[in-house]
Formats: sequence, structure tokens, C-alpha cells
Amino acid sequence: MIPFLDLGAAYREIKPEIDAAVQRVLDSGWYILGPEVEAFEEEWAEYCGAEHAVGLANGLDALVLALRALDVGTGDEVIVPSNTYIATWLAVSAVGATPVPVEPDPATHNIDPDRIEAAMTERTKAILPVHLYGQPADLDPILKLARARGVAVVEDAAQAHGARYKGKRIGAHGDIVCWSFYPGKNLGALGDAGAVTTNNPDLADRIRVLRNYGSRVKYVNEVQGGNSRLDPVQAAALRVKLVYLEEWTSRRSAIADFYLKGLADTDLILPHVPDWADPAWHLFVVRSARRESLQTQLAKANIGTLIHYPIPPHMQEAYAKMGLAADALPLAQQLADEVLSLPIGPQLPLDDARAVVATFFQKIEL
Ligand SMILES: *Cc1c(COP(=O)(O)O)cnc(C)c1O
Repeated sequence: MIPFLDLGAAYREIKPEIDAAVQRVLDSGWYILGPEVEAFEEEWAEYCGAEHAVGLANGLDALVLALRALDVGTGDEVIVPSNTYIATWLAVSAVGATPVPVEPDPATHNIDPDRIEAAMTERTKAILPVHLYGQPADLDPILKLARARGVAVVEDAAQAHGARYKGKRIGAHGDIVCWSFYPGKNLGALGDAGAVTTNNPDLADRIRVLRNYGSRVKYVNEVQGGNSRLDPVQAAALRVKLVYLEEWTSRRSAIADFYLKGLADTDLILPHVPDWADPAWHLFVVRSARRESLQTQLAKANIGTLIHYPIPPHMQEAYAKMGLAADALPLAQQLADEVLSLPIGPQLPLDDARAVVATFFQKIEL
């Protein structure tokens, strides 16, 4: 049995260190914010090449607070990819703004920079590219357009820990970069966790206040904030895992390289990596018009796969009010119909990847 992802395997690899870190927080008696959260914020900012990091409760909150810090709200529009996890859209809706979807470049699955300008109006307040599957979005044309039009760039980097765009780690290209440390992400906590990184001290400060009841000084409330504080137990576990992130990313790359070579002679559409991209390989996503039968046959060979994502945001009931038909965003719909994610992860044995490749040749006529 080859599971799609074995979360326990990462923990088992470094169990004594994680256990000691968690124990340290339990013994400290300091259970909200404090030194463990501050230390992680410093280490995460440094890793990302950003001036500031603010630890938050989860990735969705990171997106919501980034938009709030930029004063995006009712009546505003935010450019989002049509092909993304729904959290990207939900964050825009949560602040009262309208997500305006833009179709992907079918080669990279990421937002197509050439299609953004046509979707912008005088209400556009921000562009929200997603580095989907760990593949960096093409940021330079997006940043150039945003500067020219005076709008902000917020990056959804929930799948892109350690990915590089033109040699520089994702973390401070746009105005605010939003992170999730959901357990299954490349840097995953033992529960929910998130953060933002930015080079802008005012934005970092605003988000720091918004995450803590709008308060800087206890019982003094400057704005109507919420509660979205990074848990110190999670911060301690993340500090341990951060030390391993580079090694774990290179193990992901080795599996991706193996798949790219091993599956090159099939009729699958394989991930395209532009020469300016160093992906984090959060997911290894192939495309096939015969996706359902491939998934069934892999399942018969005891190989777990997932679909990221089976229903595009515009076809979710949550967005029925937008009144968009499937063919209103045909590329997003086509990807949803064709994508299949193969097992990948730092603890996946290379032999398992070999077995996945072999299955394509043995059991499936291509
Ligand atoms: C995981 C994810 C999120 C949300 O993160 P949570 O921590 O689960 O709230 C947002 N955007 C993308 C692209 C994600 O993959």
C-alpha cells in the first residue's frame, strides 16, 4: 500500500526533537504568543528573505488579515486565479470584496499574467496570485502591472514553502505573502497554523494588531481586530521542522525528477517547470483526459492519489450567486476534470515512486 501522503512519517523521522520542543512549551507555562512564537517569526522571516513575519492561526486568516491590512473591503475587487483552492476566493469574500477570477496559463496551471489587465476595473484593489502545487507564479509581470495601476499584490504561498522565483525564495516579492502550516503543507504544524511575511513594517504592524483583538497594549483596543494568534506549541514544532525544510524539499525534487523522467514516454501531461522556477513540489500533478480510469487503476494497485481540485471555485455552491456556468472559465473546469496528484513527500521512499511509475506501464495501457 502506497498512501498519497503519510503525515505520521514526518513526525516519526524527528520524533525526539518534536517531543522535546512541545514539552519545552508545556513546561514554560507560556501558552499564548511569547518567546516561542517570536523566535519562529524571526526564523521564518529569515528563511523567506523577508523583513517581517507575523504568526497567525491558519492560512485562511493570513489571507483575510492581509486584505484587511490593505483596507480591501466592501465594493472592492480582487483578482484571483480561477484555478485554485477555494480559500483564496473565500478570503476575498470574507472582507466583503468580490473575487474576480482570471484563467491560468494551461502549461503552469498558475494565473496567466497576460489575462489580468483585461479583468481589472477602477474597483480593483489587489491582485492575489497563488503559487499552486508549489510552482511559483510568474510574479514580475504581475508586480509590474500592479505598480503601474497602483494596486497591491498579495501572494497565496500556502503551497510554496521554499520555492524560488528567479532564484529568490517566495516570501517578499509582493506586498504581503500568506502562508499556511496546515499539517499536509511542505512546512506543516501539528494542527492549524499560518503566517504572513512582508518587507513593509506598517503592514506587519497592522496584521500584528489585527490578530490580537486590535490590541497592542493589553485592554487597549485600537481597531476591531480578531483572534488569530499562532499557538506556541505549533511555533515550537515548526521551528524544529524548519531546520529540515531544505532537505525535505530536495527529497521532493528527487521524486519529482524521477516522475518526470519515468513518465516522459506516457501520454500524460506532466508538470511544466519554466526555467525561472524552482518549485517546492508540494504536489506532483499530472493531467489526462482519462483521469477517472487512471485513478481507479492506481487504486487497484494500492496507490493513493487525490484530485486538486475536483470542483473549481466558480462551480461551488458557495459561489452559485456569481451565476457562472462551467464554460465561463473553461480552463479551470478542464483542469478540474483532468488533474491527478501522485504520491509525493519527503518521507516517500524512492522505491515507492518507482512502483508508481511501474504501475503506469504494467497495469494501464497508455
Ligand atoms: C491550504 C491552503 C490555504 C488555507 O490554509 P489553511 O491553513 O488551511 O487555512 C489557502 N490557500 C491555498 C492555496 C492552500 O493550499
